[in-house]
Amino acid sequence: AGIINFCANNYLGLSSHPEVIRAAVEALEKFGAGLSSVRFICGTQSIHKDLEEKIARFHQREDAILYASCFDANAGIFEALLTPEDAVLSDELNHASIIDGIRLCKANKYRYKHMDMQDLEAKLKEAQKHRLRLVATDGAFSMDGDIAPLREICQLAQKYNALVFIDECHATGFLGPNGRGTDELLGVMDKVTIINSTLGKALGGAAGGYTTGPKPLIDLLRQRSRPYLFSNSLPPAVVGCASKALDLLMESNAIAQSMAAKTQRFRSKMTAAGFTISGKDHPICPVMLGDARLASVMAEDMLNRGIYVIGFSYPVVPKGKARIRVQISAVHSDEDIDHCVEAFTEVGRKHGALP
Ligand code: PLP
Repeated sequence: AGIINFCANNYLGLSSHPEVIRAAVEALEKFGAGLSSVRFICGTQSIHKDLEEKIARFHQREDAILYASCFDANAGIFEALLTPEDAVLSDELNHASIIDGIRLCKANKYRYKHMDMQDLEAKLKEAQKHRLRLVATDGAFSMDGDIAPLREICQLAQKYNALVFIDECHATGFLGPNGRGTDELLGVMDKVTIINSTLGKALGGAAGGYTTGPKPLIDLLRQRSRPYLFSNSLPPAVVGCASKALDLLMESNAIAQSMAAKTQRFRSKMTAAGFTISGKDHPICPVMLGDARLASVMAEDMLNRGIYVIGFSYPVVPKGKARIRVQISAVHSDEDIDHCVEAFTEVGRKHGALP
């Protein structure tokens, strides 16, 4: 009967959208399979520049720069921007690529407790002695589906003269009234200075990442960011997909709204069934189970019922906080969502996760 995928980052279903696929085929035919070059030698075509311009417009920023992935965008930004006289303050649960990017830079490093504003303030006070301060956080955290308190972060940043950087991989395209992301959702688009995000999740799901922000910063990255300077240009088909995905999202937010309604349906039905779902309103819906073995056997049994989900346990999540991370997509039908909830209820009862 087929298996329904509930563990992809394909939040808007755009990776199988016919117009996105057609755009990739057209770009492939018109611009070739690849550039065999980094951007600054002979790896820049009109479509790369158009996509950068479109990304900046989408986020209402001055400019944007493409990378082969958001991992690269995160690996390349801190070292290019910060010197040993500066400081970076990072949420302890930030994505591995932010952590690696920060490791590569020579700035003074501060790690604040997850979304803990008191701790961030204490660290900002301590960091006053440095020339420049950058607060770095995921906009939405992928393991818990929780959203960074950006209003409070931006207030603190203003008070202590810091810049704010957000990683929007799990927000771009669907959070906020027009899908611009966490900064739009929380009304701080004019206060967040730098956004890094991916083209490999909601925006077509192929590959690629970017930084968007003030033009002088983007100019600096083009001169200094190592993953940009020393890695191959994005292939035309990938650029075509992302560009079409952004067109669709700028035309209408109907797809994002449909995903939000399905997320709501899943979260409320699962809660009514007796499960604890972490986070709020986000399509990442972690079904909290606690025990690692329980998460793994339940995920296996879900597959037997045609639902593809994965159990996460230590060291990916803290000890005793094992879970099955469900991800909702606009391509799921209401029937798919209901089928998933029914399967969870049956499997949860069978393994003692529900009474
Ligand atoms: N940042 C976050 C929060 C992510 O979840 C991911 C992907 O897992 C990345 C960065 C890396 O994105 P990409 O797959 O484009 O390298």
